[in-house]
Amino acid sequence: MPAPLQQLRHPLLDQQNVELWVKREDLLHPALPGNKWRKLKYNLQEAKRQQKSTLLTFGGAYSNHIAAVAAAGEEFGFRTIGMIRGEEHLPLNPTLRFAISKGMELHYLSREVYRQKDAPDFLQQLSGQFQEPFILPEGGTNMLAVKGCTEIVTDIDMKYDYICCASGTGGTLAGIIAGLKGEKQVLGFPALKGGAFLRPEIEQLLQNYSGRHFDNWELITNYHFGGYAKVKPELLTFMQQFRERHQVTLEPVYTGKMMFGVFDLVAKGFFPEGARIIAVHTGGLQGNAGFRERLGLEV
Ligand SMILES: *Cc1c(COP(=O)(O)O)cnc(C)c1O
Repeated sequence: MPAPLQQLRHPLLDQQNVELWVKREDLLHPALPGNKWRKLKYNLQEAKRQQKSTLLTFGGAYSNHIAAVAAAGEEFGFRTIGMIRGEEHLPLNPTLRFAISKGMELHYLSREVYRQKDAPDFLQQLSGQFQEPFILPEGGTNMLAVKGCTEIVTDIDMKYDYICCASGTGGTLAGIIAGLKGEKQVLGFPALKGGAFLRPEIEQLLQNYSGRHFDNWELITNYHFGGYAKVKPELLTFMQQFRERHQVTLEPVYTGKMMFGVFDLVAKGFFPEGARIIAVHTGGLQGNAGFRERLGLEV
């Protein structure tokens, strides 16, 4: 089922004479919403093809990817193992409680050990320890994830000029760019500070995936709000107003920042008159429970 497109109505959009639509990937799959489902889809098929019974992956304690892998394990019959960065904190936060409720086994790695998460020797060791699992990298970004994310755009049957998406590892953005094959303009909004580092990583993903170089994309690096998972009052106010006006819930790590950035660019006249813009809602709403609990935030 294609994720629906929802048009946003706002005086600012009329004033600047642009159209803004949200691609509701957050509604894509009931158990596995958002881009993490896109990223997992072909990996799950490959794990089945290899007759793997276990998925093993890595993430922080609030990771949307950890939550998605746990849900996928339950849905598709895999044992799941989550290697979590840092020490165990009790009581567990909502993300890890969710993961456990879906049957995931959690193992905690010190920050030092966690840094080896991509090292072949370390992965070899984990393979032996956990009966040869199918290993997914942190954030789930690999070639099969990029392939899955191309379907975010092949899914759209409407004319448009720009597509905007939040970025963590850049896997989702790489899939969007690859899927568009040089058409449209793609804007990526890094959730991390100093997001320009993503440019060569996305170039590399594109090179590996499609063997091509594309020029129709750029990173908008100044809407990180202080860094990954950092929250500022103006961002929360924006998200709250956005929900009241459009009945769409965002989260502060990725989609809130991206949407704030899109509206700010509209206000600054970044987009030409008549432009039709699509902003991808990549989901991640499971993380809001953690923000509520930690900070007492109304998100
Ligand atoms: C993981 C995530 C992203 C970032 O995806 P990448 O492929 O790592 O760039 C964006 N939005 C949400 C809601 C996410 O959970």
